[in-house]
Amino acid sequence: MCRHLCAAQAALDACKGLDSTQTEPGLYPDSHANDAAVVKQLTRPDPSSFANSDIVKVLNYHLDLAADFDSTTFKGCVVLTVETVVDNAEVIVLDIRDVNITSAASVASGTDVSGTATPLDWWVTRKEAKLGQAVVVRLPAGLAKGAKAFLKLEYSTAPSASALQWLRPEQTEGKQHPYLFSQCQAIHARSLLPSHDTPGVKSTYSAALRVPAPLQALMTAILDNEVAEEVTVDGKPYNQFRFTQAVPIPIYLIGILIGNLKKRDLSPRCAVWSEPEVVDKAAWEFEDIERILGAAEKLCGPYQWGRYDLAVLPGSFPYGGMESQLTFVTPSLLAGDRSLVNVIAHEAAHSWSGNLVTNNDWQSFFLNEGTLDTPSHLIIHLPLIVLQHYHLSRHMLVPSLTDSFHRYTRLHRLHCLH
Ligand SMILES: [Zn+2]
Repeated sequence: MCRHLCAAQAALDACKGLDSTQTEPGLYPDSHANDAAVVKQLTRPDPSSFANSDIVKVLNYHLDLAADFDSTTFKGCVVLTVETVVDNAEVIVLDIRDVNITSAASVASGTDVSGTATPLDWWVTRKEAKLGQAVVVRLPAGLAKGAKAFLKLEYSTAPSASALQWLRPEQTEGKQHPYLFSQCQAIHARSLLPSHDTPGVKSTYSAALRVPAPLQALMTAILDNEVAEEVTVDGKPYNQFRFTQAVPIPIYLIGILIGNLKKRDLSPRCAVWSEPEVVDKAAWEFEDIERILGAAEKLCGPYQWGRYDLAVLPGSFPYGGMESQLTFVTPSLLAGDRSLVNVIAHEAAHSWSGNLVTNNDWQSFFLNEGTLDTPSHLIIHLPLIVLQHYHLSRHMLVPSLTDSFHRYTRLHRLHCLH
């Protein structure tokens, strides 16, 4: 994320006053307080999250959602593919905030949204101001360590969801169509989907997203169908798009964009998306994105995410940029002289620092931002030929960063993809 003070403040807010060792009176309903096996598994490795990720891990989220711009909500379900970390795992604890869950069930596969579902016992805790609520789902009985289960939760988001900004047509450049963008860092993903909303857990995700025609949906994932599937939702014409994120990510990197969006290809693996009134200006401004990505690869190693796309958002987007393989940026970067492209170098460098190697919790957030300052400056300020000549790539810079990591990680836990 660019505009570090805001991001750092958000991370600090996520941690302030939280203590994972405290047992908060009344947090779990009396009806379950005497179930010793359950209580023992209500662990909280991350003080910013209720997730008991040391008992059960989420391997994949499959979202099946429809966007409703009238009620400014999403409605549908998520299917979690989970794996137990211990024998006799009893429950999984997920984070939610302003999310209305209506059912929890066991299903046959990680993408089974309409097959036979076996209801599961579940309950929601009282609301905590910063954290939201925990939803506790009792797992199918008899799961041994390493066993998988598929859990379907039907739910809807609330108009107050802190991750979601619903814009009226007059708030867009074109003034004709509504618009939606999400921003999940640091702990807002829990208002979009029931999840282990902690950077200490990485999961893949897939999605089927329905949006009112003729709008385009994008996610921080590979778009599987360039041409929309035409479907009907509540008697209205909708476009359905499908997405796959095959690289495990911390859930704060999940993102959604819906609007009258057009694309301009900048290279075989890079493109810029924006409203039609802006997209050509954006394509000119960010024409060098392939060179930036190539320079980053010289420094940090192969780019592992397949595509790297940019999306120029409306002016209400509150940050300079938010990293992911579909990086969201503010239109204020469109200076007309490419003078602010350094922000893109910063966000591209997050493809390694932050997205592949991630702080384990928000108390160590500085690791995400601090370790990429050197590569992001080198990417933008040194011509590629200089990088090649002096072999600044993995021979010099990476050992230096590795040394920094080792020094920092004596004090701060770091979570790695590998
Ligand atoms: Zn950043």
